[in-house]
Amino acid sequence: MSADEIGEAKAGCREVLAEVWAFLDNECDQNQRDILRQHLDECSPCLEQYGIEEHLKILLARKCGGDHASAEFKDRLRACIKEKVLERTQAKAEQQQ
Ligand SMILES: [Zn+2]
Repeated sequence: MSADEIGEAKAGCREVLAEVWAFLDNECDQNQRDILRQHLDECSPCLEQYGIEEHLKILLARKCGGDHASAEFKDRLRACIKEKVLERTQAKAEQQQ
């Protein structure tokens, strides 16, 4: 895999994480759900790395199953994503120094 390909994959993962973030506050959006589902199928290691794969599956199932995810669950997932993204951003900044 070339450096370019790796860069592209990472950009895709960041976009998906942003979608997850937006999805937390929106009702089930068919389009968003498809993007997230597809990414889970094609790129589960990335979400596993973020530690949110299971959370995301539950969120997708609840939101799109007519059941509402609890505020507590959403807060926990939001905090989890934030933490992971910050971790990654900091790790990346350190690498660049
Ligand atoms: Zn990914």
